[in-house]
Amino acid sequence: MTIAIYPGSFDPITNGHIDILKSGAEIFDKVIIAVSYNAQKQGFLPIETRVKLIEECTKDFHNVEVDSFEGLTVDYARKRGASVLLRGLRTSFDFEYELQLSQTNLALYKDIKTVFLITKPEYNFISSSCVREILMNKGDITNFVPESVCRYLMEKY
Ligand code: ADP
Repeated sequence: MTIAIYPGSFDPITNGHIDILKSGAEIFDKVIIAVSYNAQKQGFLPIETRVKLIEECTKDFHNVEVDSFEGLTVDYARKRGASVLLRGLRTSFDFEYELQLSQTNLALYKDIKTVFLITKPEYNFISSSCVREILMNKGDITNFVPESVCRYLMEKY
């Protein structure tokens, strides 16, 4: 059984994240989408809210679990018995950053493999930071995030 961890900030989760998750769930036996947090660095949404929003929009995926963790991703992966880290690639900027990150993770834990999936072109430009920016300027985020996430964010902000 191959378990993959899909780590990230997911602040908030977007349609681009979901696209990668969907493909990952087709490839691996189980995918754990794990919100990484740093107690010193407060994000936009509280961790519990990010987890709840992800749970809501992934409830129909039978092999996806939602979790959160603090500390090194490789330590969390080891603890969960995962052999794969799943990451999404949009542009060459993502690639530069992800290459360094995956090689660092490999140096820390030689049995972990990072698998990159390319997002569909229509999600290529979406990022959590652009969703936050649009939201804060009262713009329309309908096409950027899952419906339940959109409803929550529009009501709250
Ligand atoms: P992090 O802070 O770890 O980069 P993010 O939530 O921004 O967390 O992203 C988590 C993963 O999802 C990363 O691999 C990132 O490249 C990928 N990702 C983010 N947005 C998209 C998108 N629109 N399409 C595909 N992958 C994406």
